[in-house]
Parts: sequence; structure tokens; C-alpha cells
Amino acid sequence: MDRCNFRCPYCMPAHTFHEGYRFLKSSERLSFEEITRLTRIATRMGLRKLRITGGEPLLRPNLADLIGDLSTMTGIEDIALTTNGILLAKYATELKAAGLSRITVSLDSLDREIFQSLSGGFDGVQQVLEGIDAALRAGLTPLKINAVIQRGINDNGALDLVRHFRGTGVIVRFIEYMDVGNRNNWQAERVVPSAELFERINAQWPLEPLQRDYVGEVAERYGFRDGLGEVGFISSVSQPFCGSCSRARLSSEGRLYTCLFAEQGVDLRTALRTGASDEQLLEQLISIWSGRSDRYSEQRLVMRERHTDKVEMFHIGG
Ligand code: SAM
Ligand code: SF4
Repeated sequence: MDRCNFRCPYCMPAHTFHEGYRFLKSSERLSFEEITRLTRIATRMGLRKLRITGGEPLLRPNLADLIGDLSTMTGIEDIALTTNGILLAKYATELKAAGLSRITVSLDSLDREIFQSLSGGFDGVQQVLEGIDAALRAGLTPLKINAVIQRGINDNGALDLVRHFRGTGVIVRFIEYMDVGNRNNWQAERVVPSAELFERINAQWPLEPLQRDYVGEVAERYGFRDGLGEVGFISSVSQPFCGSCSRARLSSEGRLYTCLFAEQGVDLRTALRTGASDEQLLEQLISIWSGRSDRYSEQRLVMRERHTDKVEMFHIGG
């Protein structure tokens, strides 16, 4: 889903994504049938894990139907969803019943006013916390929190997030503020390196390194030495992990991106809608995948000069 009910300034700033902004028409979005068809074909290349994101995925009508189709597909082992959590209390049980495995909720601050400014004006922190509780009750675990930390904006509240979720089984993961898209007026000074956050947390609750969950896991994991859970750090700016990235991102309109910082995706919708066979689509996927060479994060300094028209985060979901 390309639309969102928030206007986080670092992702879809309200001055650009206002009422006159042209989002996709529903006929321009891939249908559930088109998404499941592409997914089925991609399982032949080894696709096993899916993440549904956006924009705000819970705005897509009948999303549980799509999850139901994907979760019963041969080859698919794990389906996660990333959401801002505002509609989660309403849908958690239905999503679990449809076969959703796990959920990630974005929550940058527990402070009502800071939350409000980081979501573009929505007084919703309580509603998001209720959504998290509903997801835990529904068994959408392990539940992860994504928190984007910016210096001078919400970095002082990072420890409050840790304190709030320690001992609950919820895993807080801190994401370095990234220069995705072209509209968020990214400033390097706003990035709080994970190493600095680690020090602050470690000083209060001593941490010890944990194994990465799987090859290509983007978060560095640390457990609290007292056994009360773990935190993670996603350091795309200070410690790029392009080399181990095995993610492909499909936008709502059917473009496939092999990098979060790409300028151009490859259009698959035309082929889907003009009678391409499964074999032809498979060939197209194989050629895109084998030809990929994106290493934006590792080459950020040079690439910032060259990539002036990157895809926006809400198109491909982080
Ligand atoms: N709307 C859903 C949400 O907010 O969870 C899903 C889509 S959102 C684009 C996915 C993730 O990208 C969120 O956790 C969000 O915080 C993160 N994100 C967006 N812009 C970012 C930026 N400039 N730097 C780092 N993370 C960003
Ligand atoms: Fe919407 Fe998520 Fe982007 Fe915020 S981060 S504007 S909730 S898509």
C-alpha cells in the first residue's frame, strides 16, 4: 500500500504528501492475485520469507485475505508485517488467524508530544500501545519495535523505550536515520550512530552480544545480562550491510527494487497484465536478480552525488 495515515517527517512529510498528492489509483496497484502469482513464481528461485509493508499496510482493504493466500503457499515459511500500529488493535486477531507469523511496530517515542510531531500530527501513542498489546495477545510474536532515532529530536527518549519494553518479550530495535528518498531533508548530524546508543543503554543495563538470527539479518542483537530480553541495532549508515543483503522489494504498483536506495525499479506489472507466462516472468526475475549490483550504503559518499532521484521509503517499505 503506497498510502499512509501518518505523515512522519522523515518518510512522508506533510508538505509534500498533502491532499493534492497523487497516490496510486486502485487499478494501478497490483491486485492480490498479481501479488500471489509473482510470489509463487519467486518461490521457485528460493523465496521463503515475506514482509508486508508500505506505506501503511493495514490500510489495504481485506489484507488478511492476501496473507491467507500467501501463508498457505508451498515454500513460504515466514510472513512478517511492518505497521505504524494505529489500526493494529482492530486487526491483530484476524491477521494471526490468516497465518501472519510476526509483526514489527514502528514507535519512535513514548512521549505524547514527540510522538505527535514524529507522526505528522497524530496523537496516537496510546492507540499504538494498545495495538502492541493486542498483537501480543494474538500471539504475533516475537514482536519487534522499530525506532528511528534522530539527534535532538527523540534521542533522549531512547532509554525510555528500552525501559518500557524490557522484560515483556518485545524486542526494541534502533534504526539509524537514513537518507532514503529525496524529500526528508536528511542531515548527517541528525544520525545517532548505533555505537553511541549502545553505550548509553549498556551503561544502564549491561548488554552482551547475541548471534544474528540468520544469515543476512540486518540487526545486531544484544541481550541484557540480567536475562530480561534483548535490543537490536540497525546501522545502515554507520555499518552498511549491503554485502549480505538478500532482499528484493516489490512496490504497490509492481516495480521490483533490489536496493532500498535505488532510483529505478523494474516494472513487472506490464508483463503481468499483457499475458506473460509464468516462465517468462521467472526469466525476468532471474535476470533482474542476477544482474543486481547495488551497494549504496557501502558507497554512500560517492553515491549521494550520483543518486539524486532515489525511490521514496513509503514506496518500498524499509
Ligand atoms: N508504515 C509502516 C511503519 O511505519 O511501520 C511501514 C512502512 S515504513 C516505511 C517502514 C519502516 O521504515 C518504519 O519502521 C520507519 O520508521 C522506517 N523509516 C522510514 N523512513 C526512514 C528513514 N528515513 N530512516 C530510517 N528508517 C526509516
Ligand atoms: Fe507512514 Fe510508516 Fe512512512 Fe510513517 S514511516 S509515514 S507510518 S509509511
